[in-house]
Amino acid sequence: MENWHISGKTKFCGVIGDPVEHSISPLIHNAALRKMGLDYLYLPFRVKIEDLGKAIEGMKALNIKGLNVTLPHKVAVIPFLDELDHLAEKIGAVNTIVNNDGVLKGYNTDATGFLQALLENGVDPKGRRVVILGAGGASRAISFILAREGADLLILNRTLDKAKECAARVSRTFGKKVKVLKLSKENLAKTLSWADILVNATSVGMSPNVGETLVTSDLIESGLIVFDIVYNPLKTKLQREAEYAGSETIGGLDMLVWQGALAFERWTGRKAPVEVMREEAIKALEKGEN
Ligand code: NAP
Repeated sequence: MENWHISGKTKFCGVIGDPVEHSISPLIHNAALRKMGLDYLYLPFRVKIEDLGKAIEGMKALNIKGLNVTLPHKVAVIPFLDELDHLAEKIGAVNTIVNNDGVLKGYNTDATGFLQALLENGVDPKGRRVVILGAGGASRAISFILAREGADLLILNRTLDKAKECAARVSRTFGKKVKVLKLSKENLAKTLSWADILVNATSVGMSPNVGETLVTSDLIESGLIVFDIVYNPLKTKLQREAEYAGSETIGGLDMLVWQGALAFERWTGRKAPVEVMREEAIKALEKGEN
């Protein structure tokens, strides 16, 4: 690789997951580190669930400065950390670890990255009515940050019990009722006319199932803001349907870039070169490097 100098002073960051081969985070972060001229290297580590504790101990032993955490470790990693950021603790999931001189602190930049992506697109969620599709890990992070920011939430999920559990956690934390419904065409029609913002936090529409969407243009009014957190493909079927209905859309790439940028800033103490990270992510996704 060009201009790559690894010396005794080089600091290390990385991502742990299983699998991890598909991750484009090494491309995004190393491009950002090079751009900023920082003496860091970001590496992928495939860590089996039974080795997670040893991997985190190893992070301390090897003085690795920071790690991203991806599936399936975002929840399981928590008992191995020394401290948790308040939001990560409430969400119950961590996607970023910072090593502060041997003290490991967990953060959730999926949540803050989602918020940053909204704000960057000129959308302040305060007082807005938001329908969230899905009740998995990403939905949970998004529900918490939106509730914290004062949005009114309604969660629709195929498995109703998971939506109820997610809503109960958010309600307990913020003392605010979160409505839930089973995901169905009827309930979508009912709730989308109420909503200001729709967030797809399910994996529906993700490659290779690029022709799938839970919501079609006939259910979308032009004032609805549609945020699809799926980033592969770069433009999903849902986004196309929303555009056809005259709606403003935000893609998962913005969230992906911001969750990375906020982690980068925690590890390096420097402002992330967000545009470099975005360009690198687009290049990698267009080439199918994930
Ligand atoms: P997850 O924990 O596995 O949750 C998946 C969710 O999708 C569940 O609510 C599941 O419903 C729902 N779902 C799956 N297939 C469905 C179908 N055919 N019909 C209706 N609902 C369906 O996954 P996750 O980690 O939350 O990730 C969800 C998506 O977000 C993925 O595509 C992921 O790549 C993307 N994501 C993007 C970013 C970003 O930075 N842009 C960050 C995180 C995740 P049930 O509960 O009924 O199974």
